Amino acid sequence: MVRHSSRIELSQTALKTNLNFVHKKVGPSVRISSVVKANAYGHGIDPFVPMAEKTGINHFSVASAHEANEVLQCKKPDTSVMIMGILYDEDIPWAIENEIEFYVFNFDRMKFILESAKKLNKKALLHIEVETGANRTGLPLDEFSKTITFIKRNRNYLQFEGLCSHLGGAESDSSKFKIDGQVKIFKDLVRDLKSKKCIPNYIHLASSAAALAYPETRYNMVRTGVIQYGFWPSPDIYYHHLQEVGKKSDRALKRIITWKTDIMDLRSVSAGQFIGYGTAFQAQTDMTVAVMPLGYSNGYPRAQSNRGHVLIHGKKSPITGLINMNLFMVDVSHLPDVKVGDEVVMVGRQKNSVIRVSSFTESINLLNNEMLSRLPSAIPRYVVK
Ligand SMILES: *Cc1c(COP(=O)(O)O)cnc(C)c1O
Repeated sequence: MVRHSSRIELSQTALKTNLNFVHKKVGPSVRISSVVKANAYGHGIDPFVPMAEKTGINHFSVASAHEANEVLQCKKPDTSVMIMGILYDEDIPWAIENEIEFYVFNFDRMKFILESAKKLNKKALLHIEVETGANRTGLPLDEFSKTITFIKRNRNYLQFEGLCSHLGGAESDSSKFKIDGQVKIFKDLVRDLKSKKCIPNYIHLASSAAALAYPETRYNMVRTGVIQYGFWPSPDIYYHHLQEVGKKSDRALKRIITWKTDIMDLRSVSAGQFIGYGTAFQAQTDMTVAVMPLGYSNGYPRAQSNRGHVLIHGKKSPITGLINMNLFMVDVSHLPDVKVGDEVVMVGRQKNSVIRVSSFTESINLLNNEMLSRLPSAIPRYVVK
């Protein structure tokens, strides 16, 4: 196999720590659906799904049918997959055939789903997503009753697997009034279903933030993404947790990802010369620079130009000049024994130094999720202990 210019290591121990943390928070009777959209937030669906299955996870959520198909290729036979977003009509028979659960948020769709299920002589596994105030997807409330009646009448082909909704911003205390409103609407719908004696197998509302900070949203399933990868959903949620456990800080979550490359080349630059494109960086003294074999097309944010750093020999090496499409340069003048091929850490630990994802996402106003989910799927992923 031809070698790629960088590599990602994924820690099985860190994942176990994070999922244990979620289990402990939500309690043993709540099922955890592991959210693996966006290529498992950049970690890679293919390695991540089996890693999570090893810790006991048997339900995965994705944003699209295309991603569901990726999970299908690497999951155990009894593991469930749920599509929360785009599923084209033409793929509905495929989803039913493969027992993939999917969100429904238009009554108009029910007829076609029913016809497809009848043709295949197989049940469609439906999660009815209701509108509670986020105004993205969600069944309008005035279509709720007729949708439920339709499912009841066609029980042989339509399985009421879930009732769900999504909270728009449980991460931030400033949206609390809005979240409270959404939670109340959802609660009323659950009560309505109980009075109709039409109870789905799962009721789910919470993503990571709500699962931690709003206990009444846990019902019997939570859909957790960001937290299982070792990141607090927001500072508000982290402080909420600290208050709950009465601590000043808590490293309860562990980053799973480490992103590495190695030095491609070394060169001497004399004082007064410029490095790379344009005049963004001019050497003030004679220096040694190391060339990195990757750039913004490989997921390294261009906004790190002239401001980020990498770790070499456990020491910070500052980026000099612009991040190019496939290259960037760092200052290694302070490392006497540096050689071509030496390991470079872009995210993660090396000896006693660490580069956190937040250490560069904060300074360039990039979301952790945004940076991670842009890591190209072509970068090879390795599972480590
Ligand atoms: C992304 C997503 C989640 C997971 O969100 P996190 O904040 O990463 O836990 C849950 N539900 C839906 C509908 C989502 O789109």
